[in-house]
Amino acid sequence: MSRSYKQQASGMTGEYPANWAEIAKQVKDEAGWKCERCKHPHDPTNGYTLTTAHLIPDKGNCARWNLAALCQRCHLHIQGKVDFVQPYMFPHSEWMRPHVDGFRAANGVSL
Ligand SMILES: [Zn+2]
Repeated sequence: MSRSYKQQASGMTGEYPANWAEIAKQVKDEAGWKCERCKHPHDPTNGYTLTTAHLIPDKGNCARWNLAALCQRCHLHIQGKVDFVQPYMFPHSEWMRPHVDGFRAANGVSL
């Protein structure tokens, strides 16, 4: 397996852990192979391939609260928009709540 250590300094990439495939599958299993956001079942032929998304875009951060099973549409929709700390323009969506709670518990953030 080839590993790349480039762009570590940007804080945007990180590295997938060696057992990422396992972790990603676990997240999808827990979600019942449905998108956490739109609830669409895994359905690649119709453009709803289920993915495991890092809410904070750091591949090395595989804390459970940072991972969400999202279809590729929702994944694209939320990408770059999730901000756990800054006040939201909108209240957290229902599906995001457990992730935000987990983030707050893990980081000692109280809002
Ligand atoms: Zn979705």
